[in-house]
Amino acid sequence: MTKRTGLYIHIPFCVKKCNYCAFLSFNAETSPRREYADALVSEIALRGEELGHPVIDTVYVGGGTPSVLDISQMRDIMHAVGKSFSVKEGAEITIEANPATLGRKDGVTLAKLQAYKYMGFNRLSMGVQSMDNDRLHCLGRIHTAENVVRDMELIRRKGFDNVNLDLMFSIPGETTRDALDDLRKVLELAPEHISCYSLQIEEGTPFGDMAVAGELTEVPDEEDRETYHEICRVLREAGYEHYEISNFARKGAEDPDGPSPYRSRHNSLYWDMSDYIGVGLGASGFTGGRRYKNTSDIEEYINALTVPPIHEGARVKVPLEEDHLNDGFDNISEAVFTGLRRREGIRYADAVDAYMRRAGGSTAAGPKEEFWRIFSEAKEEAEDYARQGLLIIDDEGLRLTEQGIDISNQIMSLFV
Ligand code: SF4
Repeated sequence: MTKRTGLYIHIPFCVKKCNYCAFLSFNAETSPRREYADALVSEIALRGEELGHPVIDTVYVGGGTPSVLDISQMRDIMHAVGKSFSVKEGAEITIEANPATLGRKDGVTLAKLQAYKYMGFNRLSMGVQSMDNDRLHCLGRIHTAENVVRDMELIRRKGFDNVNLDLMFSIPGETTRDALDDLRKVLELAPEHISCYSLQIEEGTPFGDMAVAGELTEVPDEEDRETYHEICRVLREAGYEHYEISNFARKGAEDPDGPSPYRSRHNSLYWDMSDYIGVGLGASGFTGGRRYKNTSDIEEYINALTVPPIHEGARVKVPLEEDHLNDGFDNISEAVFTGLRRREGIRYADAVDAYMRRAGGSTAAGPKEEFWRIFSEAKEEAEDYARQGLLIIDDEGLRLTEQGIDISNQIMSLFV
C-alpha cells in the first residue's frame, strides 16, 4: 500500500456551541482569533522545519468552524503551509465551512469562496446535520435548511465540484422516516460525498446534562440501527459507494465499478496508518511511528508560539499533551482498529507491515500466518463472529459485514 502524508490544521472557533458538541471549540466572537492564526503560522513553520519540509498529499482544515476566520487570517495560514511543506500538485485540500458562516450576504459568501479557491482549496465539507428546521433548532445549530440550499448554490456557482455534506441521524424525537426525509433532501443537492453519523450523547454537553436529568428522550438502539441500514440502502441505490462505516462517496462516471474518485483522501490516511501532521490546538499527529497531541490550553498554545524565548539558544516549542512512540503491537493493533472501519477491511500484508515497521522480523511464514500468530488469542472469537455472519475472514484479510458494523467496537476490541 502506498503511504502518503497529510496535514491537519485545527481551527477551534464556532459561532455558538451546538447542544451535542464535545469537540475542542470556543466562541469565535470572544476568542483571540488573530493571535491564534499567528500561533498556527509559527507552528506550521516549526513542524515543516522539524520534518524537513515533507511532501504533502492532503491538507484538511477542520474544527470548530474554520470558515469563521477572516479571509486574511486563513490566507496567512495557507501561505505558511505553502512555504513550509511541499504540497503535491493535485493534492486534496479541504476546508470545513458550516452553513451560514461563509457570509451574511451572497456577495460576501462568494468573495470568501473565491478567496478559498485562490488559496488552493478544492474540496468543501459542510456540517448540514439535518434539513428540518425544528431538528436543527433542537441540535442548537445556528443555520436553517434554507441556508444550506443557498450556500450550496453559491458553492457550485464558484465551481467547487467536490463537496461533502455531514448528516446526523437519531436526533431526539426523530423517526427512521424523518431521517430518510433529511437524506432525500440532501441527495437533491447532489453532493459528491456524504458522511452520516448517529448522534452520540457526550458527557459535559447540554445534551449530556439533559440525559442525566432524564430530560432527553434518546432514540432506542434498535431504531438507530434500522435507520442506519436504511440510509445505507438508499445511498447505495442512489449510486454512492459505502466505503467506510459512516462515509459514502458518489461513484465516478468513468468507472462506476471502481473505487469512487470522491473518497476522502485525507480521512483515508487515518484508516491506512499513513503519516499525518497535526497542527493547532489539541491537534494530533502520527509521524514516523510517533503519536503526539498538542496542548488543549489556548493561552498556553498562543503564548508558547508567539512569545519568543529570551534566553540564548532557547527554541520555540509546541506544548504537548501526549507524546508516545508506538511499538510493533501498537502499530498492528491501530492498523486493524482503524482499517476495519473501511468496507474493504484490512489486508494481513498491510497489518503485518505496520507491525514490522516498529518491531522488525520477517514474514517468511506468510502474512496470514504471522497475523494470526500475533493475534492468536483473538482467533477463536473472530472465527465465531465470522460464523455469525458479522465478519468475513479470507486468505487476504478481514472485513466487517454490514451487520457486523452494528457491533463494530466489540469486534475491533478483540485486536486491541
Ligand atoms: S459547529 Fe461543529 S465544532 Fe462547532 S459547536 Fe457545532 S458541532 Fe461543535
